[in-house]
Amino acid sequence: MSDPRYSVVGSTYPLDSKQLALIELVESLGPRFAERAERYDREASFPHENYADLRAAGLLGLCVPEKFGGRGADLRTYSIVSATLGKYCGATALTYNMHACSMLWPGALSDDLDMTPAQRAEHDRHRAIHYQRVIRDGAIYAQPFSEGSAAAAGRAPFGTTAARVRGGWSINGKKIFASLSGAAHYYGVLCTEAKPELSMRDTLYMAVPGNAPGLSIVGDWDPLGMRGTVSRTLLFKDVFVPDEAQMMPRGIYFQAASRWPHMFTTLSPTYMGIAIAAYEFTVRYLRGEIEGMPPVKRRMYPTKQIAVAEMWVKLEQTRSLFLRMLEDARVDPPKDARLRAYAAQFTIMENASYICGLAIRTCGGQSMLKSLPLERLYRDSRCGSLMLPWTAELCLDRIGREALYEPRIPGIQQPGNARIAVRAGAARRDPRAAELAPYRGRAQGDPRRLRAEVSVL
Ligand SMILES: Cc1cc2nc3c(=O)[nH]c(=O)nc-3n(C[C@H](O)[C@H](O)[C@H](O)COP(=O)(O)OP(=O)(O)OC[C@H]3O[C@@H](n4cnc5c(N)ncnc54)[C@H](O)[C@@H]3O)c2cc1C
Repeated sequence: MSDPRYSVVGSTYPLDSKQLALIELVESLGPRFAERAERYDREASFPHENYADLRAAGLLGLCVPEKFGGRGADLRTYSIVSATLGKYCGATALTYNMHACSMLWPGALSDDLDMTPAQRAEHDRHRAIHYQRVIRDGAIYAQPFSEGSAAAAGRAPFGTTAARVRGGWSINGKKIFASLSGAAHYYGVLCTEAKPELSMRDTLYMAVPGNAPGLSIVGDWDPLGMRGTVSRTLLFKDVFVPDEAQMMPRGIYFQAASRWPHMFTTLSPTYMGIAIAAYEFTVRYLRGEIEGMPPVKRRMYPTKQIAVAEMWVKLEQTRSLFLRMLEDARVDPPKDARLRAYAAQFTIMENASYICGLAIRTCGGQSMLKSLPLERLYRDSRCGSLMLPWTAELCLDRIGREALYEPRIPGIQQPGNARIAVRAGAARRDPRAAELAPYRGRAQGDPRRLRAEVSVL
């Protein structure tokens, strides 16, 4: 019998001692989260009690670097923790993603990016403030990026703007689907530096306090699934934030989105966890092992066995790609790893929904009852492929385009959309230079000093 604690990775997967301890910790909280999940879902209310438990367990600092007092989890460790949470409460795992990534992106991920010594020093000063709020005060950070425009899809500058004012910035705009609305202490907002012409290169990442004058939360929240995320609308009217609100120095978010594509895969572990939960529930249901249900067994029917087999096959395919994606995650991944990340995100989101649907069909009518978790898993799973910037549609779109077109070099006629813009003159070697070899002779500037910059498209 395999150990269900490790169902996110499978029993034979190599885990280090830190990962083992974290899984055990989350598994010790999980059953309580599963008990509360029905209420949060019914009320569409935020899982405050779960966050109190996460705080007490030191998990708000999961992705805070160790030198700032956190647990120093990298993307892979975060993803394993997040998927384990997802087995118990989808809304908690999804919102935890927003918080944990608010720590990861300015942390381990930013350490991989190019900054001038002055930027690096400024970043260290700023992030120390954010990390201290989390480690010392137990603060929660959200990530409201979406605006209902092409910006969250990575195809246009954000319409929410930050104008330079004395001692800081003045933010104006609107964010929709802001998970943790009303619950977060800080909203990590992506906005564009206000200039006559807005540019994606001028994206700023600012932490706005939940009680900042000029910030309001509007609209209702009564969706199909992921109801506990409480993702309402935020309005910003001349909201002042000081300089240290910056979670990344100017220009660095754009670089991160270009060079660390796996940063956008971090919602998928939630859905990996949901898929596992649906499979495990189905097996226990068919064996007659669900607590509070009469011990009617259904496993003797060949149709049930086939359905479980199909669920397992889908789950294994999904899990394998999930784990491979985590192994690939790094700065400047090669092209095939980038395409695999899109494929993994697509597969996890779509298969989670498919597996939950199959689970409902296989368990039958009683699984539609709100007294059992399956119908909630089914509704929650439906949201995965809608999450920008890597919706299921956009993943296919990116794979298709990036497979068929190569980089365009400024000033040189290339067919199709630019996927990689090449700047000549940067003094660093870039591993993607190999991909650009055919164009070298034609590039402007010194071809030996090419630097590729994958666009955020
Ligand atoms: C439960 C839940 C929680 C959420 N939490 C957050 C959060 O915390 N922070 C946050 O920022 N967002 C959050 N979102 C928002 C989410 O990431 C999407 O931004 C949102 O679902 C988009 O709404 P839409 O599908 O109506 O958008 P639309 O812009 O109408 O997009 C519809 C679809 O069209 C496609 N599309 C969109 N733009 C383009 C384009 N330029 N080119 C080609 N195709 C395109 C995409 O496939 C997209 O799914 C959340 C959403 C849900 C459902």
